[in-house]
Amino acid sequence: MNYKIALIKGDGIGPEVVNEAVGVMEAVGKKFGHTFEFVDVLLGGCATDAVGKSYPDGTAEKCKACDAVLLGAVGGPKWGSDKPAEQRPETALLAIRKDLGLYANLRPAALRPAMADACPLKKETAEKGIDLMMVRELTGGIYFGKRDKYQTEDRGLEATDLMAYSEKEIERIGRRAFELARLRRKKVSSVDKANVLETSRLWRSVMHRLAEEYSDVQYEDVLVDNCAMQLVRDPGQFDVVVTENMFGDILSDEASMVTGSIGLLPSASIGDTAPGLYEPIHGSAPDIAGQDKANPIATILSVAMMFRYSFQRAEEANAIEAAVDAVLAEGWRTPDIAEPGVKSIGTKEMGRLIREHI
Ligand code: NAD
Repeated sequence: MNYKIALIKGDGIGPEVVNEAVGVMEAVGKKFGHTFEFVDVLLGGCATDAVGKSYPDGTAEKCKACDAVLLGAVGGPKWGSDKPAEQRPETALLAIRKDLGLYANLRPAALRPAMADACPLKKETAEKGIDLMMVRELTGGIYFGKRDKYQTEDRGLEATDLMAYSEKEIERIGRRAFELARLRRKKVSSVDKANVLETSRLWRSVMHRLAEEYSDVQYEDVLVDNCAMQLVRDPGQFDVVVTENMFGDILSDEASMVTGSIGLLPSASIGDTAPGLYEPIHGSAPDIAGQDKANPIATILSVAMMFRYSFQRAEEANAIEAAVDAVLAEGWRTPDIAEPGVKSIGTKEMGRLIREHI
């Protein structure tokens, strides 16, 4: 196959980690007989510097003409909150997700076997294994609802943020979760706050309808406060966890912490028709940019997700994940995941070793 990939290298360590991921993609192409056409897309602080805005005209169209998008990271102190919105990298990130209709954010939190020691939880808990997929609704809920701030007569200033969800929005993310569970261990945990929120009660009723339809998948309701607790008590119990935007924002960060390092975790944002967007969960790490210190594994594992979810190529995805695990099992570490005092390797060397294993 020939795949056309949009590359948004972005800012800080973005270009360094994307370059290694591209190298791995090419190694996979050689092994499995695929070719790639890469299209560089300018977005983020680097776009502000080049053309005066972080989300240049025509960005979405360029991406839509590709089979998938790989993003490094955007942002940095140079383009902070004192800048107008159109120059800020975060504006571009929200815009591209919205324009590509990426309503489902998939964040696996898996403890890689060779990294069990990095898990901050009890040894017995880590030994049970952690391999869950957080499915977060990405384009609805309180982050996109109407907001207001006004002066009251007797209570000073007051502010409101509206959380709204439609059955349609809930059903499409729910279906994603059940379909994913069928490819995994066939369990869906749906997280809500149905004892308090009306949106959660609607969420729950739609999920129950889907659970009947996907009767081969085990289903449970989990209240969000309980889920936060269970993620540190016994994360091994979860397979696919599906939830709305704000709960997912918080819980996915919590889930990623229990697996150790931010430099190891990939993510995917997908919609119904447009190309999926794949990116590491970390940011642009300006503190280590340009020093060959960044861990490229999260971006490389994002490419594995691209093969699995955009191209339905599980074999290629497995080969990438196996190569990463093999390199970690041999003891190779970038500085962020190295034990204190242990010699580490750089971004390029880590990329080279993973390519070699493919
Ligand atoms: P960050 O993830 O960039 O960095 C947090 C810490 O983790 C830093 O110490 C950094 O050195 C380290 N780190 C991150 N990725 C690493 C990697 N691959 N290898 C080794 N160490 C790594 O988060 P931050 O410092 O809060 O944000 C920096 C900038 O990134 C900000 O401008 C922020 O807005 C932006 N950001 C972008 C995205 C994105 O592009 N999706 C996500 C989060 C933050």
